[in-house]
Amino acid sequence: LESELRNKHIDWICNAKVDKVEAGMMYVTEYDENGQEKKKHELPFKHSMMLPAFKGVDAVFGIDKLTNPRGFILVDEHQRNPTYKNIYSIGVCIAIPPLEQTPVPTGVPKTGYMIESMVTATAHNIRAELDGKEPTEKGTWNALCLADFGDTGVAFLAMPQIPPRNVQWASRGRWVHLAKIAYEKYFMRKVRKGISEPTYERLTLKAMGVMRLKK
Ligand SMILES: Cc1cc2nc3c(=O)[nH]c(=O)nc-3n(C[C@H](O)[C@H](O)[C@H](O)COP(=O)(O)OP(=O)(O)OC[C@H]3O[C@@H](n4cnc5c(N)ncnc54)[C@H](O)[C@@H]3O)c2cc1C
Repeated sequence: LESELRNKHIDWICNAKVDKVEAGMMYVTEYDENGQEKKKHELPFKHSMMLPAFKGVDAVFGIDKLTNPRGFILVDEHQRNPTYKNIYSIGVCIAIPPLEQTPVPTGVPKTGYMIESMVTATAHNIRAELDGKEPTEKGTWNALCLADFGDTGVAFLAMPQIPPRNVQWASRGRWVHLAKIAYEKYFMRKVRKGISEPTYERLTLKAMGVMRLKK
């Protein structure tokens, strides 16, 4: 990402907190790796965009043993809440502990294929419970992404998404931009038809070693 920003003459500041925003000016404090204040920035802008930190929804916020302090749902390796065993949780709303301490707190990224693997595991586990068995399936939490940069892009595969990883691969080029356009059309068609994982998709990904469920 840094190399792509450099190519497009875009500056960046890491480990920073936004102190306040005024019309045309953003005030940002940068921190060093020990979390000590390093530099204050005044950033003039004509157009700005902010992504606020994720948090859980109000409906579940603060329910003891269901959510963490940020309102994300606690799950075990089978996507089931350890306390309320009739509650499964999937997607961006689940609590994943941070991998390491960072100067400014950050969340663990969650991506589409990773979430699909959670969904598949959950569907199998609920079926098992309906049949009077214990849940056994675990999602692989692999990340398979096409990151589109507008005219080019980066494709990457991280297995599993959260380190330590067994596979870490990335490739860059215009083909990724075109592949993302094609993928969108393919994905929307799949959703309209109600097929989450056609056989040819499953077999192709399997040949690449990418599967939704842990063996
Ligand atoms: C800008 C951006 C780019 C991304 N790019 C990629 C990428 O290239 N590849 C990738 O793999 N991942 C990407 N991701 C991540 C991926 O999109 C998300 O991780 C994934 O969509 C999360 O799926 P989800 O089902 O958990 O939640 P969501 O997709 O957010 O689905 C939640 C749904 O719940 C609905 N909802 C919310 N509240 C209520 C309510 N009270 N009642 C009823 N419905 C409600 C919402 O409208 C929404 O449709 C990106 C995310 C963002 C924000």
